[in-house]
Amino acid sequence: MRDCIFCRIARHEADARVVYEDDRIIAFHDIAPKAPTHLLVVPKQHIRNLADLHLEDEGLIAHLMLSLSDIAHTAGLDNGFRTITNTGPGGHQEVYHLHFHILGGRRLPAL
Ligand code: 5GP
Repeated sequence: MRDCIFCRIARHEADARVVYEDDRIIAFHDIAPKAPTHLLVVPKQHIRNLADLHLEDEGLIAHLMLSLSDIAHTAGLDNGFRTITNTGPGGHQEVYHLHFHILGGRRLPAL
Protein backbone atom coordinates (compact mmCIF):
# COMPACT_ATOMS: atom_id res chain seq x y z
CA MET A 1 0.00 0.00 0.00
CA ARG A 2 1.72 3.14 -1.24
CA ASP A 3 0.30 5.63 1.26
CA CYS A 4 0.08 3.44 4.38
CA ILE A 5 2.37 4.95 7.04
CA PHE A 6 3.45 1.57 8.43
CA CYS A 7 4.20 0.28 4.90
CA ARG A 8 6.29 3.43 4.39
CA ILE A 9 8.16 2.80 7.65
CA ALA A 10 8.70 -0.85 6.65
CA ARG A 11 10.21 0.34 3.33
CA HIS A 12 12.32 2.94 5.20
CA GLU A 13 10.58 5.74 3.32
CA ALA A 14 9.34 7.29 6.58
CA ASP A 15 11.35 7.82 9.76
CA ALA A 16 10.89 5.66 12.83
CA ARG A 17 13.01 4.58 15.79
CA VAL A 18 13.43 0.97 14.69
CA VAL A 19 14.43 -1.54 17.40
CA TYR A 20 14.15 -4.78 15.40
CA GLU A 21 13.75 -5.81 11.80
CA ASP A 22 13.95 -8.97 9.70
CA ASP A 23 12.59 -9.97 6.32
CA ARG A 24 8.98 -10.31 7.57
CA ILE A 25 8.44 -7.90 10.48
CA ILE A 26 9.64 -4.56 11.83
CA ALA A 27 9.37 -3.09 15.35
CA PHE A 28 9.70 0.59 16.21
CA HIS A 29 8.80 3.08 18.93
CA ASP A 30 5.28 4.53 18.88
CA ILE A 31 5.29 8.21 17.98
CA ALA A 32 2.94 9.05 20.89
CA PRO A 33 3.94 6.64 23.68
CA LYS A 34 1.27 5.63 26.22
CA ALA A 35 3.84 4.02 28.56
CA PRO A 36 7.56 4.58 29.27
CA THR A 37 8.27 2.01 26.56
CA HIS A 38 5.73 1.72 23.76
CA LEU A 39 6.68 -0.29 20.69
CA LEU A 40 4.72 -1.32 17.61
CA VAL A 41 5.43 -4.66 15.96
CA VAL A 42 4.26 -4.78 12.36
CA PRO A 43 4.30 -7.32 9.54
CA LYS A 44 5.95 -5.81 6.46
CA GLN A 45 3.14 -7.25 4.34
CA HIS A 46 0.08 -4.99 4.35
CA ILE A 47 -2.69 -6.68 6.34
CA ARG A 48 -5.44 -4.40 7.65
CA ASN A 49 -6.03 -6.05 11.02
CA LEU A 50 -6.83 -9.40 12.67
CA ALA A 51 -10.12 -9.54 10.76
CA ASP A 52 -8.13 -9.45 7.49
CA LEU A 53 -5.98 -12.51 8.27
CA HIS A 54 -6.12 -15.61 6.10
CA LEU A 55 -4.86 -19.15 6.55
CA GLU A 56 -1.87 -18.43 4.31
CA ASP A 57 -0.73 -15.76 6.83
CA GLU A 58 -0.31 -18.45 9.51
CA GLY A 59 3.50 -18.63 9.24
CA LEU A 60 3.92 -14.85 9.27
CA ILE A 61 1.69 -14.40 12.32
CA ALA A 62 3.36 -17.25 14.18
CA HIS A 63 6.73 -15.63 13.49
CA LEU A 64 5.45 -12.24 14.70
CA MET A 65 3.92 -13.67 17.88
CA LEU A 66 7.05 -15.70 18.66
CA SER A 67 9.18 -12.56 18.22
CA LEU A 68 7.23 -10.32 20.63
CA SER A 69 8.89 -11.53 23.80
CA ASP A 70 12.44 -11.20 22.42
CA ILE A 71 11.67 -7.71 21.12
CA ALA A 72 10.28 -6.71 24.54
CA HIS A 73 13.33 -8.09 26.33
CA THR A 74 15.69 -6.34 23.91
CA ALA A 75 13.90 -3.09 24.81
CA GLY A 76 14.61 -3.77 28.49
CA LEU A 77 11.14 -4.94 29.51
CA ASP A 78 12.43 -7.68 31.79
CA ASN A 79 9.64 -7.28 34.34
CA GLY A 80 6.83 -8.00 31.89
CA PHE A 81 4.83 -6.10 29.31
CA ARG A 82 1.37 -5.78 27.77
CA THR A 83 0.54 -6.64 24.16
CA ILE A 84 -2.53 -5.18 22.48
CA THR A 85 -3.92 -5.15 18.98
CA ASN A 86 -6.93 -3.01 18.09
CA THR A 87 -9.35 -4.19 15.41
CA GLY A 88 -11.75 -1.91 13.55
CA PRO A 89 -13.66 1.15 14.74
CA GLY A 90 -15.09 -0.69 17.75
CA GLY A 91 -11.54 -1.52 18.86
CA HIS A 92 -10.42 2.11 18.25
CA GLN A 93 -8.00 1.12 15.48
CA GLU A 94 -6.41 4.26 14.03
CA VAL A 95 -3.83 2.84 11.62
CA TYR A 96 -5.26 0.17 9.31
CA HIS A 97 -2.08 -1.89 9.04
CA LEU A 98 -1.93 -4.78 11.50
CA HIS A 99 0.26 -3.97 14.50
CA PHE A 100 0.83 -5.23 18.01
CA HIS A 101 1.48 -2.65 20.71
CA ILE A 102 4.07 -3.62 23.33
CA LEU A 103 3.68 -1.47 26.44
CA GLY A 104 5.82 -1.54 29.55
CA GLY A 105 8.43 0.15 31.66
CA ARG A 106 6.14 0.59 34.65
CA ARG A 107 3.53 -1.50 36.40
CA LEU A 108 0.47 -1.11 34.18
CA PRO A 109 -3.04 -0.79 35.60
CA ALA A 110 -5.32 -3.81 35.43
CA LEU A 111 -7.56 -3.95 32.38
P1 5GP B 1 -4.09 1.91 16.82
O1 5GP B 1 -5.11 2.78 17.52
O2 5GP B 1 -4.31 1.87 15.33
O3 5GP B 1 -3.97 0.56 17.47
O4 5GP B 1 -2.69 2.62 17.11
C1 5GP B 1 -1.92 3.24 16.15
C2 5GP B 1 -0.67 3.71 16.83
O5 5GP B 1 0.24 4.15 15.85
C3 5GP B 1 -0.88 4.87 17.82
O6 5GP B 1 -0.41 4.51 19.09
C4 5GP B 1 -0.07 6.01 17.19
O7 5GP B 1 0.54 6.84 18.15
C5 5GP B 1 0.92 5.27 16.32
N1 5GP B 1 1.35 6.00 15.14
C6 5GP B 1 0.54 6.64 14.24
N2 5GP B 1 1.28 7.20 13.27
C7 5GP B 1 2.57 6.89 13.54
C8 5GP B 1 3.81 7.19 12.88
O8 5GP B 1 3.86 7.84 11.85
N3 5GP B 1 4.95 6.71 13.44
C9 5GP B 1 4.93 5.97 14.60
N4 5GP B 1 6.11 5.56 15.07
N5 5GP B 1 3.79 5.67 15.24
C10 5GP B 1 2.63 6.13 14.72
